[in-house]
Amino acid sequence: MKKVVKFGGSSLASAEQFEKVGAIIRADKDRRYVVPSAPGKRNSKDTKVTDMLYGAYALAEAGKNFDKELDDIKARYQEIIDGLKLDLSLEKEFEKVKADFKAKAGENYAASRGEYLNGIIMAKYLDYEFIDAAEVIFFDEEGNFMPDKTDEVLRARLKDCERAVIPGFYGAKLDGTIKTFSRGGSDITGSIVAKAAKVDVYENWTDVSGFLVADPRVIDNPKGIETITYRELRELSYMGASVLHEDAIFPVRKEGIPINIRNTNAPQDKGTWIVEDTCQRSKYTITGIAGKKGFCAINIEKDGMNSEVGFGRKVLQAFEENGISFEHVPSGIDTMTVFAHQSEFEEKEQNVLATIHKLASPDFIELEADLALIAVVGRGMRQTRGTAGRIFSALAHANVNVKMIDQGSSELNIIIGVRNDDFEEAIRAIYRIFVDVQL
Ligand code: ASP
Repeated sequence: MKKVVKFGGSSLASAEQFEKVGAIIRADKDRRYVVPSAPGKRNSKDTKVTDMLYGAYALAEAGKNFDKELDDIKARYQEIIDGLKLDLSLEKEFEKVKADFKAKAGENYAASRGEYLNGIIMAKYLDYEFIDAAEVIFFDEEGNFMPDKTDEVLRARLKDCERAVIPGFYGAKLDGTIKTFSRGGSDITGSIVAKAAKVDVYENWTDVSGFLVADPRVIDNPKGIETITYRELRELSYMGASVLHEDAIFPVRKEGIPINIRNTNAPQDKGTWIVEDTCQRSKYTITGIAGKKGFCAINIEKDGMNSEVGFGRKVLQAFEENGISFEHVPSGIDTMTVFAHQSEFEEKEQNVLATIHKLASPDFIELEADLALIAVVGRGMRQTRGTAGRIFSALAHANVNVKMIDQGSSELNIIIGVRNDDFEEAIRAIYRIFVDVQL
């Protein structure tokens, strides 16, 4: 067996956390490839090293002095090195970072140093080989990740490498310029390494024992999810459930490698398994609920719309021309509604309306703002009758007005639109009926 283990920032925030991580890695000889994040917060008031780096670099970019900021970052690493009693000095590395900051090496380079330096410490601590991600993870000139080239180079590099530390979050363009993924991107690196090394499991260690059925900020002490499919997870993370970066699924999904989300502070917990498919029924009819606020609906009406070939295309073209992506498009006989992100839409609303009028000549357009979308996701829904019925009676009892309903043909999810103000109550009502009452 071979495993990739990725550790998040809170798992590596201090020497004490490093020791827990060391114990986890040493407890299983299959844990061969380690992907660390940069040190995260040690407590709720602390600052992540990545944010400290962005801050220091902003000063450098503005031509201001950043000595104090860089010293604070250095102190974070030194505390870990001292705590672990390592015979290691990052003095030279920091000299280079300072010179590169002065030479305005770029924000991406600056942010990437968090993982890079933590990777050096981790490799020393474990006595594993250190592989700089800039040598094995590639982006094209436009900054798009290059999966094929990366896979080829990384696979060749890992072939004869028994154990290695590969820092998360960044790679390099073909000209050598450092490029990062979006925030939280070490999860993606873990997945890329898992695919290239063709491991059996990608373990993603964080500070919670896996995914929860609903957001703990909305539901007190929600139940955990034992097993979830890639597709279910994709739906939930797209709709705001965090824990894993939403793009982290793609590389491992291609190879069918399961991801196991685990808790560094409670390694005995089994966590959540993310798999291609499973015969295991989820405990409840639904696997999870997630949602987002901040949508708006653009209602377009035109008599005889249904028989006008190409009407929908013209409306969507108006969104395309203004660079706005749409979320859902429910339609009626003479009406069509487009759901979009309010913040994106607001800036360009009058342009979009004018373009719709120009292209599709509707009778009138009406806007509705401050809406939320909630996704109720579950592979079990396909085999269960009455799921939608239960959701809507729960919402009716909770006095929540449903603005939109969309059930994908996969029967994997039901999307419900409600007012922003009803968002929390709607989630609580759905959770209650499926998890507390287990109807
Ligand atoms: N350190 C980076 C961040 O804070 C990437 C990561 O932790 O995955 O976003």
